[in-house]
Amino acid sequence: MAYDAHLHLDGYPEARRDALLGEAFAGGVAGVVAVSMDVASCEVNRAWARRYPGRVMPAYGHHPEQPPLGEAALAALCDWIRARAADGEPFAVGEVGLPYYTRTEAEAKGEPFDETPYARQLDRFVALAAELDRPIALHAVYEDAGKALDLLERRGIRRAHFHWFKGDSRTVDRIVANGYCLSLTPDVRYEPEIRALAAAVPLERLMAETDGPWPFEGPYAGRETHPLMAADVAAEIARLRGLAPEAVARILDANTRSFYGF
Ligand SMILES: [Zn+2]
Repeated sequence: MAYDAHLHLDGYPEARRDALLGEAFAGGVAGVVAVSMDVASCEVNRAWARRYPGRVMPAYGHHPEQPPLGEAALAALCDWIRARAADGEPFAVGEVGLPYYTRTEAEAKGEPFDETPYARQLDRFVALAAELDRPIALHAVYEDAGKALDLLERRGIRRAHFHWFKGDSRTVDRIVANGYCLSLTPDVRYEPEIRALAAAVPLERLMAETDGPWPFEGPYAGRETHPLMAADVAAEIARLRGLAPEAVARILDANTRSFYGF
């Protein structure tokens, strides 16, 4: 069994989604975390979660690599998420975070970039995750992970997941010290920076994900990113650590199950 701890289900063509999940579940994927880009995405992921309870865990939020929401829209989304909690529905908060790629691209072009509204929006989602005591799925890499950790620690967050984590060992130590998790994608097969992380991060803090339909390179060049590839991530982590693949898969599965409450 495997879990795909970070999947953009609504990033696949509408006509492909059901078959994708069917193939994943038939092929040994126990569940997927379906993260949201925006309000429309939240609605789509909620519908899939209701169709596959216990197998599709929705995460509700507003992706940070796009303009932040205005106050009214942000308040409305937070209220919509609160209503899901009031109805007793299972869900996490996400995908939320900080716009590392948007910011660094702007800075590389010499354009000014004001991160303040993004950070303010993230803090609202962090506060909401604390209020509702839900896990939070974060897009916060390199130096942005440290900024996110400041907010998480201040709000007393218990369950934070740094998806497709990239960063230094000091940041990893801080994630681990807080009992938070991070996940790796199929690029663990060929990306030296990610392979080094896979060998170093405590297994108890690791999850496998695909971030599908995001395309990968190396052995995956030209292939559709599929939740089944989460099993490859676990197997590669085992290989890099010289451990039995079944043992590593079992640990990563247990991490994802307990973190997201599948
Ligand atoms: Zn994502």
